[in-house]
Amino acid sequence: MKTTASEPLHPDGPGPVPDTAPPLDFIREIVAEDVGSGKHGGRVATRFPPEPNGYLHIGHAKSICLNFGVAQEFGGTCNLRFDDTNPAKEDVEYVDSIIDSVRWLGFDWGDRLFHASDYFDTIYEYTVQLITDGKAYVDDQSADQIREHRGTLTEPGRESPWRNRPVEENLDLFARMKAGEFADGEKVLRAKIDMASPNFNLRDPVLYRIRHATHHRTGDTWCIYPMYDNTHAISDALEGITHSLCTLEFEDHRPLYDWVIENCPVPSRPRQIEFARLNLTYTVMSKRKLLELVQRGDVSGWDDPRMPTLVGLRRRGFTPESIRTFAARIGVAKRENLVDVALLEDAVREDLNRRAPRVLAVLRPLRVVIENYPEGQVEQVELANNPEDPSSGTRKVPFSRVLYIEQDDFREQPPPKFHRLAPGREVRLRGTYFITCTGAVKDAAGCITELRCTYDPATRAGSAPDGRKVKGTIHWVAADHALDAEVRLYDRLFTVPNPADDKSGRDYKEFLNPASLDVLSGCRVEPSLAAAAAGDRVQFERLGYFAVDPDSSADRLVFNRTVTLRDTWARIEEAQKKEKR
Ligand code: ATP
Ligand code: MG
Repeated sequence: MKTTASEPLHPDGPGPVPDTAPPLDFIREIVAEDVGSGKHGGRVATRFPPEPNGYLHIGHAKSICLNFGVAQEFGGTCNLRFDDTNPAKEDVEYVDSIIDSVRWLGFDWGDRLFHASDYFDTIYEYTVQLITDGKAYVDDQSADQIREHRGTLTEPGRESPWRNRPVEENLDLFARMKAGEFADGEKVLRAKIDMASPNFNLRDPVLYRIRHATHHRTGDTWCIYPMYDNTHAISDALEGITHSLCTLEFEDHRPLYDWVIENCPVPSRPRQIEFARLNLTYTVMSKRKLLELVQRGDVSGWDDPRMPTLVGLRRRGFTPESIRTFAARIGVAKRENLVDVALLEDAVREDLNRRAPRVLAVLRPLRVVIENYPEGQVEQVELANNPEDPSSGTRKVPFSRVLYIEQDDFREQPPPKFHRLAPGREVRLRGTYFITCTGAVKDAAGCITELRCTYDPATRAGSAPDGRKVKGTIHWVAADHALDAEVRLYDRLFTVPNPADDKSGRDYKEFLNPASLDVLSGCRVEPSLAAAAAGDRVQFERLGYFAVDPDSSADRLVFNRTVTLRDTWARIEEAQKKEKR
């Protein structure tokens, strides 16, 4: 199931960034200093440069919030630039989804949508200049030979036999590479820097390779493609980027970035600054791995609600605001770490607590007959849509003689501190009457199929005139009025906190959680949800936050659980289990 720009899941358009002001991190300190000293004329220009070879994930969201956030805070601009230099792996499906996701997160690049492929002509011209200046050469060695000659940490690399080709010959060969005279891998163009450099990236890095492949934008115009490092530096300079923010793995590439800027006739001098990438517990965060999960069928697609992709999180019910809040809270630092996914869950819980209307839904229904309630009578109970937001108003929920409650809310033999229903016990039904359990009906196998209860007509308002109290309040729906629904519950996709880098050294796929998806059918929800549309988010009282899935239709409602509520009973139960052990 793909989501594209033309089919918005729900109406969250671009919105303001959350008012949780991010603290001044080391990057913002640098930018503030540069603005203060008048560097770049006080201008701030950043960019978010995804490679369109996969869907964006929550790690990219960190980078998006940083780049667009810095630009906004300093009155600058942020470009969206597709780093599309690898025709073999790139696809317009990814381009569309990336555009849609950045917009969904709430950011706006105005008319500054660019593609590295827009600069192929200029990059080629600059490269010809490098060759002319004796700073680049065509190498006939194979990729394997180049690797063998690269040397080690302790040994310098060996120079290619083709390194000292005359400029004229290099110019001629490079033009013929471009003209398509050679096969993939037959030749490359390399920068002539220093084969003895302690930095591998400076040991005559490849600048251009031959790839006879159709590019999703330039078609068959090119059969040589520039490499990431020179492309990125030149693209930044052409766009007048002032601060080129990237993740730590590019720290060792910075000398090459600077070499390209210094040696090409570029119109501006951007500065690269690295920050730690986001790693999140119980998931993986590399497009290659996420693609593998999709291809193997471990998940239903890039937008499977268990995926850390933005389309997955969105389908799961995460709001753009919660993701921006999360990004602001984790901040930006120079050291790699692993962020607890609970932080992300907290952010969405807080956001939805304020915004999501509350409804009654029963996931595992247990039939309850209220013996003293008149047959055929229906009352409308008025319930607040969201007590956190009085402006959200109220709605009417039907109440009648036969109800469903949650199986978990009844225990024949209640353990200590269990304050819900049990034989002889009285509880409040959410928003209305007190009921008392008078008995349980069982089938031949001894399973409880129905509860018999009585209600106290004097407690309609949810309290007793004689002042007696009940300890528990449980949710319910009226059997004849409730709608049928499928509810998909999600658990973590992996069983260990850091599957991509587990101490055992095992492959991350070995840690896939076989119980990460639990599909419940036959759930019952209150009738007000009849009009629910894909992307709508609600709180099922006492159960968590849920989003209507795109698979949902008028006759088959489908909900995804975004996140649970903090469930006090579950915590008590957990603590009791621990005590026993
Ligand atoms: P992956 O490693 O997941 O395949 P990538 O780095 O190859 O991602 P790009 O499309 O090149 O993906 O990334 C676009 C931008 O997002 C880059 O500037 C990159 O540094 C940044 N980015 C990617 N992953 C993360 C992450 N986990 N945390 C923060 N920023 C990230
Ligand atoms: Mg990359």
